[in-house]
Amino acid sequence: MKAFKPHLQGLPSYPYKKVEAPIKLDQNESPYDLPAELKQRVLVRLQGLDFNRYPYLHAEDVRERLAAWLGWPMEGLVVAPGSNLLIQALAQASNAVLDTAPSFPHYAFSAKISATPYRAIALGSGFSLPTEALLEAMEAPPGVLFLPNPHAPTARLFAEADIHRLADKAARTGWLLVIDEAYHQFSGTDYAPLARANPSVALLRTFSKAWGLGGVRAGYLLASPEVCNVVQNFVPPFGLPAHTAQILLAVLESPGYVQGIVQTLVAEREKLFQALQKHPTWRVYESQTNFLLVRTPDAAAAYQGLLRQGILVRRQDHYPGLEGCIRVSVGTPQENQRLLEAAFSLAEVPHA
Ligand SMILES: *Cc1c(COP(=O)(O)O)cnc(C)c1O
Repeated sequence: MKAFKPHLQGLPSYPYKKVEAPIKLDQNESPYDLPAELKQRVLVRLQGLDFNRYPYLHAEDVRERLAAWLGWPMEGLVVAPGSNLLIQALAQASNAVLDTAPSFPHYAFSAKISATPYRAIALGSGFSLPTEALLEAMEAPPGVLFLPNPHAPTARLFAEADIHRLADKAARTGWLLVIDEAYHQFSGTDYAPLARANPSVALLRTFSKAWGLGGVRAGYLLASPEVCNVVQNFVPPFGLPAHTAQILLAVLESPGYVQGIVQTLVAEREKLFQALQKHPTWRVYESQTNFLLVRTPDAAAAYQGLLRQGILVRRQDHYPGLEGCIRVSVGTPQENQRLLEAAFSLAEVPHA
């Protein structure tokens, strides 16, 4: 291990363990695969693809289509196999990473493996945005501030006025505010106009959630051409596989299916939220995403109790401030019904 940089020693790996279960509500995936007709068109495209040929250097084919669809210049787009890779690139490139806590764990992890100085500011009461403390932290030499909005893992949407204050501060200080919009379809929000007006704001988007393409691995960065030039250098040449590009081109020809799925999942989320509010021992938090954060008397007992009934959820109780919490993805109506039945059947006794 002497070959590797000392800061990499003893680093824990990404906190995820695969568990099989009939009802999988642990990764905020879409419960719906691509519509059959669209998937068929994907397969036709793949049939016609020369597997022996390299794809475009920097996914120019996908970026061109994406640029047209978004009304955003192609020079302001980086496409990568997963937005996680873009998070890593941003953390590697930056002087410092500023984060909220709790938060999406890959920001902190990416800073750690890159030996980039990292600081996290705790969310306020009710998971509110610690705007004043963040503004103060941005007095330090500039780096990248990662802000998931809606926030993960709390599912909360932050006030526009607060985000505008952070963006203004970024413009004045040289910080880059990266708004991670992984769940923005479920909140109906879109910070592209802000990013367009303020080059100190960049957006991360993913195909893994609302688009139902978690297995395909694709995400993109919307930013100024200057920011994109730097980030693109951290994505390996020919980094977006040819098959991924073909799948993205096919869905970008028919992106309309996403809207119906989002409508269904948002309606299901609200039904779940209403129902879980009546749970005797759980407390469910309001959500603007495709998942619900729930505080239980004992996360281990809730997790095991649900798993015994075939339902896999994600424990969140390792985060400070999320004691007892689990996270549940919104599934199909049938899956959500099963979840409710299981949740209300659990007779949890808190550990002494
Ligand atoms: C799911 C998620 C992502 C998506 O990462 P991919 O690598 O694109 O699958 C990014 N950010 C947040 C906050 C997420 O929850």
